Amino acid sequence: MGLALQQARAAMQQGEVPVGAVVVCDDRVVAVGHNCPVGGHDPSAHAEMQALRAAAQVLGNYRLPECELYVTLEPCVMCAGAIMHARIRRVVYGAADPKTGACGSVVDLFAEPRLNHHAEVIGGVMRDECAGILQTFFSERRAAARARRLAQPFVAGEAADASSVPPSESSN
Ligand SMILES: [Zn+2]
Repeated sequence: MGLALQQARAAMQQGEVPVGAVVVCDDRVVAVGHNCPVGGHDPSAHAEMQALRAAAQVLGNYRLPECELYVTLEPCVMCAGAIMHARIRRVVYGAADPKTGACGSVVDLFAEPRLNHHAEVIGGVMRDECAGILQTFFSERRAAARARRLAQPFVAGEAADASSVPPSESSN
């Protein structure tokens, strides 16, 4: 999970939501991946997808039944689907994701008896570190957005005056 966190930091350095993943086979790291949908113009470029794709290439097989996936954030529905298609043996994740988590937070696809693959899932490993990097990312992003808003009147060459009509409204 420490290696997955390193990947999450790499994502953060690129301005992506910091999530990292690692695929391990026989105690050997096969592939790593980090979240990069923005830079890659790819909605499927979640950390798990990147790591699964790389692992499948390394092992020359689209099935990865001997592999374990470590990821800093609870997988979403898309990634859970890819994990099932890859026949991953075990999934270990860090922080739960109350908005999109598909391992119990929103839905639990791995507990769904009508889906035929049931990987072992373990959550909460290094949860504080995994959640902490996300909290840092989003609080920094909010602070940057606030700073931009505060700077705007000066960029426009106007004093911050509550009575002045913004250009977007004066054109109506
Ligand atoms: Zn995902």
